[in-house]
Amino acid sequence: MSDCLFCKIVEGEIPCDKIFENDQVIAFRDLNPQAPTHILVIPRKHISTVNELTADDKNIVGEMVLAAQAVAKQEGIEESGYRLVMNCNEGAGQTVFHIHLHIMGGRRMNWPPG
Ligand code: 5GP
Ligand code: ZN
Repeated sequence: MSDCLFCKIVEGEIPCDKIFENDQVIAFRDLNPQAPTHILVIPRKHISTVNELTADDKNIVGEMVLAAQAVAKQEGIEESGYRLVMNCNEGAGQTVFHIHLHIMGGRRMNWPPG
């Protein structure tokens, strides 16, 4: 998708603070962090929202969660705790329409979220 911000990050057209990558996913620091550790995991493949996922994408979703686990360990928040969030559509707060998993930690996380 030529006009997708996160596809441009995947292609290296827009810089990011990359901290993890493999053949399926990339993880980088959020530009506007909402917690001391706030990292996004995105698939290399363009998928606009969780609603567009299909059974063929099962492996991608699994890779996203496993990448988040590895990043949490790397960041030293695996024991203190972290939150994984995927916002789907505007009403849930999605602003970039290329799916991404937020990893947030390093502070007490409240429940329910706002
Ligand atoms: P959403 O609101 O769609 O769930 O999350 C999008 C996230 O992407 C936001 O937390 C926002 O701060 C982050 N973001 C938006 N543009 C950029 C960018 O150019 N670079 C990085 N690293 N993060 C971005
Ligand atoms: Zn995209």
